[in-house]
Amino acid sequence: MTTEDRCPLCGSGAARSHAEVNGRPYLRCGTCDLVWLLPSLWPDRDTELKHYGTHENDPSDPGYRKFLSRLADPLCVRLPAGARGLDYGCGPGPTLSVMLEERGFSTAVYDPFFAPDITTLDPGATILSPAPRLRSTSIHRIGSSPVSSACCAPGAGSLS
Ligand SMILES: [Zn+2]
Repeated sequence: MTTEDRCPLCGSGAARSHAEVNGRPYLRCGTCDLVWLLPSLWPDRDTELKHYGTHENDPSDPGYRKFLSRLADPLCVRLPAGARGLDYGCGPGPTLSVMLEERGFSTAVYDPFFAPDITTLDPGATILSPAPRLRSTSIHRIGSSPVSSACCAPGAGSLS
């Protein structure tokens, strides 16, 4: 067990190989099901911001809404009334949170670059250190769901 294979969401050491995409190995947490790229292969912060700057996420874009509905539709069917959520890695144009709010689910947003208010991660917590660095967009490309496991995993990114 190294820091490379410790879950960046829940801290569990129960990681196992999940997939290899374009020669890049991904691990899956046996505790919370987060899927992540080995941290040594993550882009540096400037490269990551440059990449995100190319995204044109817009809640008024029907195509983007259709893409996100692959997650939002089945999720909303399963959520109990009054459930609250967190769109972790919402990007420059939070849209999933807008779609969930439209269906009556209060949803906060967090993004290390575009919505960096870490109090949204745990509104009752005293902030002692920066939020964990996760790559939700890197995660969702290889999963069966259009949005990262981090959004749906127990703990920091869950709807509750
Ligand atoms: Zn985990």
